[in-house]
Amino acid sequence: MPYRMWNARFLCSQPGCEGQRLNSCGLYRTVRRVIDRVDDYYMGTEYLECGKCHKKSPAWNQAILKHLGPAQRIEFPAVLSYKLALDRSIVRELRDRTLGNSPTMLQRKLQEHHYTNYLEKTIRYQCALGKFAAQFVSRPVSAAKALPPYRPVPTARWLLDVYVYDVNSRLDVLKAKVMSTFGTILKMGSYKHVVKKLAGEAAVTAAWSINVGNEHGQVLMSMLTASEASEGLWNMADGLMKRFESAGMPEPKLLYVNQDCCGKSHTEARNLFRKWKYLVVRLDIWHFMRRLASCVSSESHPLCATFLRKLSAAIFQWDEGDVKRLQEAKAKEIQSRGLRLPVELTSKELNTHCRRKTRGAAETEALIDELLTIYKGDAGSESLGVPLFNAHKLEEMWEQQRSHCACIQNPSGISLYKIASSLVWSAVLFYQHLGRPDDGEEEEEEEAVPEVFEEEELEVEEAVDHTIPPPPAASDDDDDYASSSTIIRSSPTQLMEAP
Ligand SMILES: [Zn+2]
Ligand SMILES: [Zn+2]
Repeated sequence: MPYRMWNARFLCSQPGCEGQRLNSCGLYRTVRRVIDRVDDYYMGTEYLECGKCHKKSPAWNQAILKHLGPAQRIEFPAVLSYKLALDRSIVRELRDRTLGNSPTMLQRKLQEHHYTNYLEKTIRYQCALGKFAAQFVSRPVSAAKALPPYRPVPTARWLLDVYVYDVNSRLDVLKAKVMSTFGTILKMGSYKHVVKKLAGEAAVTAAWSINVGNEHGQVLMSMLTASEASEGLWNMADGLMKRFESAGMPEPKLLYVNQDCCGKSHTEARNLFRKWKYLVVRLDIWHFMRRLASCVSSESHPLCATFLRKLSAAIFQWDEGDVKRLQEAKAKEIQSRGLRLPVELTSKELNTHCRRKTRGAAETEALIDELLTIYKGDAGSESLGVPLFNAHKLEEMWEQQRSHCACIQNPSGISLYKIASSLVWSAVLFYQHLGRPDDGEEEEEEEAVPEVFEEEELEVEEAVDHTIPPPPAASDDDDDYASSSTIIRSSPTQLMEAP
């Protein structure tokens, strides 16, 4: 009751009533049922009337609520739909749309809570009624008022509708948030999975969703297009360049793309972002590898995983300095335990503590050439003679992709890693690094990609998540390990896709 309780000033929104104040004319006769966590509650309001046009409206109308200040506005407890209302605390639960947190799941939980609460109330009522029956035997118990029936929680679809109302009310804030996102290293990719979710009239109106993300995993821009090389890309690029310019932000240094990295296409990335003179464009290595992997005859071929591992090794190498430091720390660790063992680094330790860099265009091209020659021959067939590759397709693909070996090299002078945390292990300082920008999820293309390839990528992602190396196997040295370890964690940063 903002008018009576806070003496809030509301103005009539009708044409011809500019500046006309609304006055209270009693209580609104309808109450709203609000769905809360374990039970419903009812919400009433006051009725307001314009002194000039005499139009009346309840105080929970959006046109009236927007006159309130932010502090008073957040006191409003629910999001109203046409008939019902949902408590804001439940709407907030829908904001985190992660796996498992769906409207259906929320509806089931609410249903469970509400039904349990109804049963408990019924038990309390029946117990109280039993006591009365015992005391006043002259009055028959059957004359007691019947319990109201259980009212089910509305459907998951309704919860989703209310969530959309909530998003709609925060649209300006959300837009401002997206428009205030910038970055130094960007990644532009086209995806299909969002488009597949379009339903109703919007279905089949778009073929691609094109996203631009930054090194923090935030999305700068997202658009739906009918084709990957759509004219709309120009508008998107112009909008992005204008955003950076009007905010006075420094231009991005590096852009990863999944197509049009070089060549003569009119939507080539360098042409799209023509105002950013010093922007370096690189092809996403993941896509480069996927193109070659698409020539595999079968995902389940026993040599497929080995080939992909070797392909990755033809492109990347470990940073010598990082590897040397890791070897030094591990050697000290072994010595401190009085053991004489050779220093062997596990892939988990390498992934956790060492950075990777590209080998250079010429070396990568030669190594891939060599690798493909080997796998096209007898070495590329399994025991029954089934070849790993569709040789003709592979030759064509490699001829097309050969020129992109230069496009996948790490640019000089731009660091692709940033320090997320540091760790002293056996008196050697390590940094936990985060890798290249990731704009969310990897896309799926028409061409199937072998499953093993995806598994390999996943392994790398998991490994990056480890901040602390595993403690030494001998548990009696735990104290020494703890005393020699100083862990300084930086603010949480989003997990990036490792190269
Ligand atoms: Zn009026
Ligand atoms: Zn290229």
